[in-house]
Amino acid sequence: KVKDLGRNGFSFYDESMNLDVQRNFALNVRLHQAVQQGDIEIYYQPILDLTSRKIVAAEALMRWTDSELGYVSPEDFIPLAEKNGLIHRLGDIVLLEACTQAASWQTISPIKIAINFSSVQFRYCEQLQSRIVDVLMQTGLPAYQLDMEVTESLLIDQGHALMKMLSYLKQLGVGLSIDDFGTGYSALSYLQRFSFTKLKIDRAFINNMTTCSSDASLVSAILAMAKSLKLKVVAEGIENEQQALFLQEHRCEYGQGYLFSRPVPAAEFTQLLLRDQKDASLGQQVERVS
Ligand code: C2E
Ligand code: MG
Ligand code: MG
Ligand code: MG
Repeated sequence: KVKDLGRNGFSFYDESMNLDVQRNFALNVRLHQAVQQGDIEIYYQPILDLTSRKIVAAEALMRWTDSELGYVSPEDFIPLAEKNGLIHRLGDIVLLEACTQAASWQTISPIKIAINFSSVQFRYCEQLQSRIVDVLMQTGLPAYQLDMEVTESLLIDQGHALMKMLSYLKQLGVGLSIDDFGTGYSALSYLQRFSFTKLKIDRAFINNMTTCSSDASLVSAILAMAKSLKLKVVAEGIENEQQALFLQEHRCEYGQGYLFSRPVPAAEFTQLLLRDQKDASLGQQVERVS
């Protein structure tokens, strides 16, 4: 009887909602453990110069495989970490590990490291700024080799402290990219005010670009706009040669996607860099011979 009363009292509380709450609770517990035990891994996806097809940067992407829950996508655990505050520790982990890694890659090739930052991390601007400066000093990575990727949601409530921090980092030489461009907040005037250095076209547009003429027009319009604002462009989610060629023809500087490589562990990324270097020296030999 008590059970029945309970059911009636919470009639809005259906079974599927109960499952969501349970899953989120479990995710929360497991994520805390994963952070504590060092189970969060960082993978790296190459960003290429579309003309030379050489690697110019690596984007650091978090990976988490839980022993019970299996692979959990960052699209699921990042929003959770933003709610429970773990994003600050996660952000710290990726910042230190990726900068350390990038510093060691400098002996092979002077590539940049692109790191994603959540808008929530900017709530404590001063701490974030000094952490970034500390990590650059500690790892010896030159500031201009670091690109910060942020989404348009950062720009919704832009305070004085944020503007101050971004202009300070810009003076140091740190790059600022707008990620997932075209999917968020749409007042374009912010592009000028924030002095971004790069714009990353969301993969949703790249996906259909060669089959849907309106997406093709959007991509060429974004490229034209970026050119006149002196922003470099990275196209995300390039999966076939047709897309790469379309982008090359429309003077898009950089590209990233499964066509070139999926995100891979650091050791595999090192192999990709070494292969790039070997190809380059082979190319020089051929030039010298001919
Ligand atoms: P993002 O920053 O836009 O990263 C690009 C996403 O596109 C990655 O998904 C990447 O694996 C995926 N991708 C790259 N090329 C292709 C392709 O050719 N086809 C398809 N279908 N997908 C491609 P991932 O690794 O699952 O990450 C999803 C999002 O999670 C990221 O989107 C970023 O917003 C967030 N994220 C990942 N790592 C971090 C992190 O360290 N910090 C923060 N704050 N967010 C992160
Ligand atoms: Mg990104
Ligand atoms: Mg993106
Ligand atoms: Mg994304």
